Amino acid sequence: MSPAWSGHDVDTEAAAYWAKRIAAALAAAAIVQAVAAAYRSAQASGSTDQASLAAILAAQGVTTLIAAALLQQLAQVHAEGAAIGREAAEAAVTGGSVDWSDWQPGDPPADAVAGLVALEMGERAAAQAMAQSRVNALARKLAAASQNGQVDAAGIARDELSDPGDAHQVALTEIVLASSAAAIAVYQRHGVQWHRWVTERDGKVCAICRANAKAGPVRVGMPFPSGDLMPPIHPNDRCGTVPAHMPQGGSRG
Ligand SMILES: [Zn+2]
Repeated sequence: MSPAWSGHDVDTEAAAYWAKRIAAALAAAAIVQAVAAAYRSAQASGSTDQASLAAILAAQGVTTLIAAALLQQLAQVHAEGAAIGREAAEAAVTGGSVDWSDWQPGDPPADAVAGLVALEMGERAAAQAMAQSRVNALARKLAAASQNGQVDAAGIARDELSDPGDAHQVALTEIVLASSAAAIAVYQRHGVQWHRWVTERDGKVCAICRANAKAGPVRVGMPFPSGDLMPPIHPNDRCGTVPAHMPQGGSRG
């Protein structure tokens, strides 16, 4: 009998909270105006195809603005995720579960990501990559709209950047990432040597995650069958890991 992964109790609630913050930060007036201004210059130079638009958006600083807004959000989302992972892992180590009744999203302790160096170091690259893909999506939408006459570039920017599905995916995936990183730090601190992959039993678990779970205990710091050290391994992955006993004589139970 494996301990439960209490992170599943609050991960989606936290993601819903942070998704709103992310959407608002990305669709901030300064960013929307920068997109509109970049579109006007593209139009003035007659280069409203997708590739030119992507280049002009980047040249006029839109990617940098989006990356900066994301970076600011990621720092807080990771703190939230790390706090969740730390509590869930501490409970899992003792075989208990977390009483989340006093928990509220949006108020993570300031020290939650302390020591999770890889996480902090990865934030800038992650924000940059996400900003790049947002700018590409924006360029695609603006280029398509420009085929049909009058373009409300600011409106397109607001819709695209505040897309609730995109924001929720970023929030949930980054919460699970920070939560897993924090959990592994807790396991290492407690000398936990083996852990197992636990999926959310919501029927939406992918085959790769299911295979990781089926593999049974894996040494902390060694890869699961998918090649990953911890969740998430795809967007919206809600898996976690919990302490496990060393497998005996090839037993996979
Ligand atoms: Zn998964």
